[in-house]
Amino acid sequence: MQQLVFATNNLHKLEEVAAKIEGKIKLLSLDDIGCHDDIAETGATFRENASIKSNYIYNKYHVNCFGDDSGLQVDALNGEPGVYSARYAGKHGDHGANIDKVLAKLEGMDNRKARFVTVISLLWNGKEYFFEGTVEGTIRHERSGSQGFGYDPIFQPDGYAITFAEMTLNEKNSISHRARAVEKLVGFLDAV
Ligand code: IMP
Repeated sequence: MQQLVFATNNLHKLEEVAAKIEGKIKLLSLDDIGCHDDIAETGATFRENASIKSNYIYNKYHVNCFGDDSGLQVDALNGEPGVYSARYAGKHGDHGANIDKVLAKLEGMDNRKARFVTVISLLWNGKEYFFEGTVEGTIRHERSGSQGFGYDPIFQPDGYAITFAEMTLNEKNSISHRARAVEKLVGFLDAV
């Protein structure tokens, strides 16, 4: 069976992708290949950051691999928090403070349009391919729900009256930016 390394240590992400390509390609994590390096996300776009991760692994281990990067873009904030989504309020992964910052910046603004974006960079037999997934929505005025992570409590996807944080994991995973990008990746892998 062919092997593919996912340049992540996030086991939730790994499981989500593994479930979709089960039986066809063996998915390996960074831990599985003994990589414990901290790959700095220094890019200015999701695409650059995804590419930095996949190229880092490819150049060091010479294996088929992919990296991903995701985040929230708010129109009235000129696309912020964007690539800074995880550390918008300063500390990496402080989701509560990140949400507070978005809500404070949007106070009094009518345009609440936003989207989540995921970009995947795949290096397959030495060639790079990109897959993008987005989900459009609006930013609520207050938090609602306790599922999920990150900005989920304030993000209401278009066509729904609830936030990502009020959905079950299955429900969110069926329409999320990440799921959509992964579906495109899986479609590519199914065809090779
Ligand atoms: P990552 O690139 O998938 O690690 O995402 C970077 C950051 O974007 C996370 O730390 C969150 O702040 C935000 N983010 C990405 N995906 C989601 C999501 O599905 N829900 C809420 N926040 C997300």
